Amino acid sequence: EFRYGEHSEVVVPTPNGSVIFGQNHPLVVVAGPCSVENEEMIVEAAQVVKRCGAQFLRGGAYKPRTSPYAFQGHGESALALLAKAKEVTGLGIITEIMDADDLDKLIEVADVLQIGARNMQNFSLLKKLGATTKPVLLKRGLSATIEDWLMSAEYILAAGNPNVILCERGIRTFDRQFTRNTLDISAIPVLRTLTHLPIMIDPSHATGKSEFVPTMAMASIAAGADSLMIEVHPNPAKAFSDGPQSLTLEGFKELMHEITALSTFF
Ligand code: PEP
Ligand code: MN
Repeated sequence: EFRYGEHSEVVVPTPNGSVIFGQNHPLVVVAGPCSVENEEMIVEAAQVVKRCGAQFLRGGAYKPRTSPYAFQGHGESALALLAKAKEVTGLGIITEIMDADDLDKLIEVADVLQIGARNMQNFSLLKKLGATTKPVLLKRGLSATIEDWLMSAEYILAAGNPNVILCERGIRTFDRQFTRNTLDISAIPVLRTLTHLPIMIDPSHATGKSEFVPTMAMASIAAGADSLMIEVHPNPAKAFSDGPQSLTLEGFKELMHEITALSTFF
């Protein structure tokens, strides 16, 4: 039972040391491309985001694409590339699990397993991750209410895994012309009244446009987010997925300078 003002910590061991997600801890930054494309790009992205101060590298091996004809991720071979990037940089790895059959392979390389928006109510997957102790990043469903989302988190917690991080990534909006989704910034203060779990914000999938990502990242910090997920690509114009919302390596560096300056106030 949750008492107002309680905050849990999710402690994630990485080669560079333990990283703690939680309200009374420094902002945790997760950055990297939408998809793992090849060794060179993932290692380069990892090196740059590490140098800029990120604690985790993100990158999809198994991609939940709206169209079955879109790039679906390189799958297992991409896991080896994530392992390589981890070895080179010591960053923790966050990557998505779509199918419980891939759990054994993913658990080897991932330090946090992501459940994507489209699987937020895949209850059998939630229960399977609940039966592990691996930290889980639970993204909010495309049109999920906060209640739906917290009930999904409850599936993982009730199955015995206390290591859940919530990620707001924008909700379905009526105006698809200017942003991909609407970032629900109010989810941050609302969740604080309802749950002890750490809160991450993903302004990349929320806005769908790289030009709006820095503003919404800063707004998320001001509203009290514990962590940020930012899509970054060495050449966004050539990205296999989500190029329009990906910051360049230089753009990410600039954002991290702004974040460092802002974080001194929070
Ligand atoms: C992603 O993180 O690349 C992704 C597919 O996110 P979401 O599930 O939030 O759409
Ligand atoms: Mn993406």
